[in-house]
Amino acid sequence: MEVLVYPDPVLRRGGKPIATFDADLRKTAEQMMAAMYEEVGCGLAAPQVGIELKLLVLNPSGDRNDTDGEKVLCNPKITKKKGREFGEEGCLSFPGMHAEVERWIEITVEYQDLAGQPQKLAADGFLARVIQHEMDHLDGVLYVDRLTASEKLRVKAQLQELEAEFRARA
Ligand code: ZN
Repeated sequence: MEVLVYPDPVLRRGGKPIATFDADLRKTAEQMMAAMYEEVGCGLAAPQVGIELKLLVLNPSGDRNDTDGEKVLCNPKITKKKGREFGEEGCLSFPGMHAEVERWIEITVEYQDLAGQPQKLAADGFLARVIQHEMDHLDGVLYVDRLTASEKLRVKAQLQELEAEFRARA
């Protein structure tokens, strides 16, 4: 699995609701988790590997030995949210870049597990941030879309560099 890099237009397609919870889906989630560790990230959404599904994997510690921290969310929806704060984020689709993004501090997310069973998760702090970041990918939204004007200005040169590298590969 290859992680697509900004400004690859496939990242803007987002994902479609998952209707079939089968062995293929479990395999895809497993491969995404492996790709996430390989790239040293703590979250990965299916559209980032060119798969148009509302599927994301995460582990806030980014440590492959910490299997308790692993979560797989299918068709996630935020049903409660509270408070806003800025915090630093990176994204595997923006190598070498970090920026401050405003997110909800506390969220409740309802989703389905890999068996299609409804689940509910209350999260705050960094876990809530990772979930919101990955959920954006499912709508084709990238974290640079959420930057303040000054933060956008600060990373402008890095974005232009990624755009130039993408054109050179095309
Ligand atoms: Zn990302």
